Amino acid sequence: MQPGFNDLLDATIAHLEALRSSGARQVLVSSQVLAELSASTGRKAPTPTPSVPAPAAVRPASASPIAPTAPRPPSAPAALPASVTARWNTATQAPAPRTPPAPASVPAPIITRPPKLDPIALAAALENLRQRTVACVKCPNLVSSRKNVVFGVGDPQARLMFVGEAPGADEDAQGEPFVGLAGELLTKIITAMGLSRSQVYIANILKCRPDTPGQPYGNRKPTPEEMTTCLPWLQEQIGLIQPQVMVALGVTAVEGLLGKTDGITRLRGKWQNYQGIPLMPTYHPAYLLRTQLTTDKRKVWEDMMSVMERLQMPISEKQRGYFVAK
Ligand code: SF4
Repeated sequence: MQPGFNDLLDATIAHLEALRSSGARQVLVSSQVLAELSASTGRKAPTPTPSVPAPAAVRPASASPIAPTAPRPPSAPAALPASVTARWNTATQAPAPRTPPAPASVPAPIITRPPKLDPIALAAALENLRQRTVACVKCPNLVSSRKNVVFGVGDPQARLMFVGEAPGADEDAQGEPFVGLAGELLTKIITAMGLSRSQVYIANILKCRPDTPGQPYGNRKPTPEEMTTCLPWLQEQIGLIQPQVMVALGVTAVEGLLGKTDGITRLRGKWQNYQGIPLMPTYHPAYLLRTQLTTDKRKVWEDMMSVMERLQMPISEKQRGYFVAK
């Protein structure tokens, strides 16, 4: 191992810890960066800048650069060689320009995450996030019309997280997602899976109800600007909860999470990837209420059985037979 590699590793660790202290929950690492870091053991490493402190000791090879879990005092991010920092990106930073699609032979970027917080720290972090979210005034029109900010509900330790579109009138009034008719149907779906609402986590792309000026009732789809503005709250929420599987309910949830506008009919039933988390798109319960089609209900149920299989949940013969024509 070259001597400079230890400096680079220490600088990387310091930078990640500083990002973590400043609230970053996720760091995207391209395979190219990892390859370069690995290769540094066998070739000349980039020269550290003078601001990078010399390592106190050689780190074990197995040390993870994002292993620390205890809160750390805020500190300024340590400088890294430009060739490395240019390719680091975090979920809390402004979106970086899209890079051209990689050739088929290049593996997808590897996404590393900090370990999930212990239950007490997680509850505290979620409460801190909730307080910041309910105080949000980034969308003046929604702030003036909302009754509540609908943060999310459920088990912070949930393995399964549902993401919907935006609060409706009932959700706005009660401050909880999916409590209207569509919410009742979602609850039935969750129950049919053998779970309860309190065992999963439910949130929306938008935390405030989209306003409908001049209309006393009715809903509208969030605008792209509203979704972009609000998404960091959900991203931070997901980063804390770290569910094993996510379900995107409806086209708006898919657009918000994946940036895909292919349409829910094309995407439903096909596993997607949200920052390393398997994500199943399916129809929104409100759509099922509108169509009342058994075929659509069966499709959603098949999607939920895929989710159950992914979570290694048992599926009974009775469950497999739901909505199948006799
Ligand atoms: S919709 Fe989201 S970003 Fe806009 S005011 Fe509400 S919480 Fe803030």
